[in-house]
Amino acid sequence: MADAAEVDRAVERAVRAFPAWRAVAPGDRARLLRRFARIVEEHAEELARLEITGAGHTVGNARWEAGNVRDVLDFYAGAPERDHGRQIPVAGGVDVTFAEPLGVVGIIVPWNFPMVIMTWGVAPALAAGNTVIVKPAEWTPLTALRLAELALEAGLPEGVLQVVPGEGEVAGARLVEHPDVRKIVFTGSTEVGKLIGAKAAKQVKRVTLELGGKSANIVFADSDLSRAAESAPMAVFDNSGQDCCARSRILVERSVHDDFLARLTEAVREVKVGDPNDPASQMGPLISAEHRERVASFVTEADVYARGSCPGGPGYWFPPTVLAGSSSESFRRAFTEEIFGPVVTVVPFEDEADAVRIANDTAYGLSGSIWTRDVGRALRVARAVEAGNLSVNSHSSVRYWTPFGGFKQSGLGRELGPDALSAFTETKNVFISTE
Ligand code: NAD
Repeated sequence: MADAAEVDRAVERAVRAFPAWRAVAPGDRARLLRRFARIVEEHAEELARLEITGAGHTVGNARWEAGNVRDVLDFYAGAPERDHGRQIPVAGGVDVTFAEPLGVVGIIVPWNFPMVIMTWGVAPALAAGNTVIVKPAEWTPLTALRLAELALEAGLPEGVLQVVPGEGEVAGARLVEHPDVRKIVFTGSTEVGKLIGAKAAKQVKRVTLELGGKSANIVFADSDLSRAAESAPMAVFDNSGQDCCARSRILVERSVHDDFLARLTEAVREVKVGDPNDPASQMGPLISAEHRERVASFVTEADVYARGSCPGGPGYWFPPTVLAGSSSESFRRAFTEEIFGPVVTVVPFEDEADAVRIANDTAYGLSGSIWTRDVGRALRVARAVEAGNLSVNSHSSVRYWTPFGGFKQSGLGRELGPDALSAFTETKNVFISTE
């Protein structure tokens, strides 16, 4: 657990490593990142096992995550060679722009998807020529530490990618305050994100914030109701609901509300909750006893419409839970606050305008799904919902080829996609007189 002095030493090393790293020719930087991706691939099973051990992810998810780390590194390995500036026509000379790296970038990571969220920041930041310090979450430092070792093995110079495990309020806070850290990428709760944004503002430090969510899954009567109902459970219970994109509010058109609930109940009872090492498990335990208590505080027996099963015994188990048909104060709280556990709330809506109104009646704006066979409606609703990542007749949110991030209090800035490097560079304009 690094203290502030340890963080300062890491920043010193990162500052020292920066000039040489930014000077590495684009093609060579690309090769190093590709080699890093290959080494990750060779260690994919080991990384997956570490994530199961550290975070309780199911083996299916953990393997996908290790593959995603490889793919994101591969994708941004192509970026240094394509980080073009522009040539702008002006009178009396030539005007060009350069995308300059920022310097030292701090990446603060939550515990829910440790290695992938780290890599969404690390890969484009390194590709752009920055040096990087990662502060993993207290509970889940293992994959971050291993990835830093693998980076060295791939030939990345010392000091280019460092990991400092430590407490948020100590190591994380020092990264935010340190004047030589030029940018913070923070993924975590909205509460801490606001604090970090305020602190960073004092130094006009660049920030990308990826924060909480309370995403809506909007099901219209004209949709393929069985597909909508069968897919709804894993759109919220994946990773035990510890997912910022969890579709934790299901809004269903009133005429099919009861039918949908009956189908949803059946699908929820089929979710396989069990040992994360068992490939058949779709959902594992929660991260900690403390978190399980918090999740449980949102569930009042009278609001429970249906429940799946989960193992007893050791492990922070919590069954998939559906809350519906209630107007109680506790239901209201479950419907509006981010639970970050396997609890979903279902409410009816009257028409399209009502669905959009309910979907937008939240401070968050991260993801959401729209189920309808009417393409015009799909587009109207997708344009009207205030969220950064929407899917129609699907629940996918994150693809590394496409931009990801939140509206409103779900965040600031975007990660991934073709433009990720712009979050890790400054545009410099240079005019050269030909007179
Ligand atoms: P958290 O805010 O408690 O912690 C996140 C990270 O910040 C941890 O590494 C923690 O140590 C650090 N931290 C805490 N206090 C700090 C401080 N004062 N200064 C600097 N760093 C500090 O969040 P969590 O509980 O780890 O993660 C869950 C939250 O993350 C949920 O709200 C979830 O929605 C959000 N999340 C968002 C996204 C996204 O992309 N939008 C992705 C995953 C998780």
